[in-house]
Amino acid sequence: MTIELEIGLYIFMLAGFLGYHLISRVPPLLHTPLMSATNAMSGISLVGSLVVAGAAYSPLSTAFGFVAVTCSTTNVVGGFLITDRMLRMFRRDQDRLAKRELGRGAWLAAAGLLAGVLALLRWREELRPLLRGADLTQALRFSYILSAALFILGLKGLSSPRHARQGMFLAELGMAMAVIGTLFHPDIVAYRWIIVGLILGSVVGASMGLWIPMTAVPQRTALSHSLGALAATLIGISEYIRHGDALGQVLMTTIGLEVVIGGLTFTGSLMAAAKLQGLLPGAPVTYPGQNATNFALLAVMVGSLVCLIVTPSAGSVFPLMVGLALLFGFLLVIPIGAADMPVVISLLNSYAGLADAAMGFVLMNKIQIITGSLDGTSGFLLSLLMCRAMNRSAVNVLFGAFGKIEKEAEGTAAGAKGTVRRIAPEEMGVLLDSVRSVIIVPGYGLAVAQAQHGVAELAKVLIKRGIDVKYAIHPVAGRMPGHMNVLLAEANVPYDQLYQMDQINPYFAEADMALIVGANDVTNPAARHNRASPLYGMPILEVDRAKSVVVLKRSLRPGFSGVDNELYYNPKCMMLFGDAKDTVNTLIVALKS
Ligand code: NAP
Repeated sequence: MTIELEIGLYIFMLAGFLGYHLISRVPPLLHTPLMSATNAMSGISLVGSLVVAGAAYSPLSTAFGFVAVTCSTTNVVGGFLITDRMLRMFRRDQDRLAKRELGRGAWLAAAGLLAGVLALLRWREELRPLLRGADLTQALRFSYILSAALFILGLKGLSSPRHARQGMFLAELGMAMAVIGTLFHPDIVAYRWIIVGLILGSVVGASMGLWIPMTAVPQRTALSHSLGALAATLIGISEYIRHGDALGQVLMTTIGLEVVIGGLTFTGSLMAAAKLQGLLPGAPVTYPGQNATNFALLAVMVGSLVCLIVTPSAGSVFPLMVGLALLFGFLLVIPIGAADMPVVISLLNSYAGLADAAMGFVLMNKIQIITGSLDGTSGFLLSLLMCRAMNRSAVNVLFGAFGKIEKEAEGTAAGAKGTVRRIAPEEMGVLLDSVRSVIIVPGYGLAVAQAQHGVAELAKVLIKRGIDVKYAIHPVAGRMPGHMNVLLAEANVPYDQLYQMDQINPYFAEADMALIVGANDVTNPAARHNRASPLYGMPILEVDRAKSVVVLKRSLRPGFSGVDNELYYNPKCMMLFGDAKDTVNTLIVALKS
C-alpha cells in the first residue's frame, strides 16, 4: 500500500464519520433538499473530468473526459439550482417574489465559472508559464482544502431550514473554487472540449433545475445519479486504457471499483428514472430464479475484478467486467416496483458517492474522496431511515418478493370489509362549521392530484374562521423522504404549521377532525395491531383517535402497500370520493359561499 492510498483511506473513513454526524442532524423536513444537495456536491467528479478532458492523453480520453465534464456539470448546476428552489420554499415570512428570484449562490458560482473560463481563453498564452509553476499546484491544493471545508459547512447548514440556504451558498462557493482552481491544473493543455462540456452541461442542468416540477424530483434525482455514475465509469475506463500495462495492483483495484460501482449505478439509476417517469412499467418484473441469477452474475463480476487485480494485464477481462456491471445494474432494479424506487434511489445515491470516491482514489484527488464519502453516507443513511419508517429491511426492498406483498394484501383486504360512510362536499361544508380544530394529513394522492395549493387555500379559509389547523407529516408519506414538506412549502405553507409524526400524534385525540388528503398506508390502524398485515409495525399517524375522520380520495383502492385500509370501515370515518384537487376546490367554494 502506498502512503497516498493510506492517507486517502483515512480521509475516506473520517469524511464518512463526519458525514454521518452532519446528515443525521438534518431534519426530515429537509431530506429531499439534502438528496439534491449531496447530488450537486457529488458533481465534484467534474474536477477529475476536467483534467482528463483537457490533458490530451489520447483522443479517446478526451472524448470520455468531455462526456464526463458534461454529465458532472449537469449535476452541479441542476443539483444546486433545484436545491435552492426547494429551500426558497421553506420560509416563515414568505417573500412572494422569491419564486422568480434565482439562487444567488448558484448564479454567483455560474458567473465565477464563466469568468474563469473566459479569463483562461483571453489570457491563455500569458498564463501558460504560470500554469507550469509549482506554486500553482500548491494553490490548487489549498483551494481543494478550502472547498472541502465549505462543503462540510454547507451540509451543516442543512440542519435547519433557517440556515439551509446560507449553507448551500457556501457549498456552491466551494464548488466554484474547486472547479476554477482545477482549470489551472498543470496537466490541462487544451480547453476546447472543456468549454463545450461546461456550456452544454450548464444548459441541460439549468433547464432541469429550473423547470422540472417538484413532483418529478424523484426521477430527476435518479437521472442525475446515473449521469454522475457515467462520468465515473468513463473516467475509469479512460484511465485503464491510458495506463495500459503499467497498471499496478493498487491502481487496478481502485479503477475496477470505480468502473464496477459506476457501471451498475449508471444502468440501475436509468431504470429507476424510467420507472418513475412512467417510461417503463412500474410493476416489478420477476421470473423464477431471479435472485440466484443476480447473485451468480455478481459473483462472476467480482471474480473478473479479482482476476484483473491479480493480473492487471489481462486486458480482455476488463470489457467483460464493464459489461457485467452494466447488466447487473439493470437486473438489480427491474424486479423492484416503482413505489419502492425512493429507497433504491437513495441506495444508488450512496453507490454514486462510492463511485465518485473511487474516482478520487484513481486520480488521487482528495476533494473527490471526501465528497464521495459524504454522498455515500448520506444516501445510505436516508435509505435506512426510509426502510425504518416503512418497517422493512433494505434486503427486503432489494431482494424481497415484491409481488408477495400484493397477494398478502388481497387476503387482508378480503377480511377487512365493513360499512363505508360517504359524505358529500355540501355536507362537509356544514360539518366544518362545527369544528374548532382540524389536522390535515397529506399523502401521495395530494402529490398526484397537485392539490397542495388548494389545500393551503382551504387551510387559510379555515384559519380565517378561527379554526386551528395543523398539518401532520409522516416521514414516508408520498414517494420521497420529505416529499410532503416540499410540496406544502411550494404552496407557501409556513413550515411551523407542519408537524412531524411524533409531534402530532398526541394532538389527534383532541382534534375535532382529521382531514386526510390522498394519504392511505400512513394512516392504516392495522399497522398497530394486525400482525398478519404487511404494514404491521410501521409507525403511523394515529388519525383514528380524532373525533371525526374525513378521507379525500377517488375510491376505496389501496395505496402503495396494496393493503386495504381498515380505517375506512371505522364508524367515525367518512369518505369524500373524487380527485383531491377538485374536491378541495369544491370545498373552498362551498365554505366561501
Ligand atoms: P399511499 O398509501 O400510496 O396512498 C395514496 C392514495 O392516494 C391512494 O390510495 C390513492 O387512492 C390516492 N390517490 C391517488 N391519486 C389521487 C388523486 N388524484 N386524488 C385523490 N387521491 C388520490 O400514500 P401514502 O399514505 O402517502 O403512503 C406512502 C406509501 O409509499 C407508504 O406505503 C410508504 O411506505 C411508501 N413509500 C414512501 C417512501 C417515501 O420516502 N416517502 C419511499 C418508499 C415507499 P385512490 O386511487 O382511491 O384515489
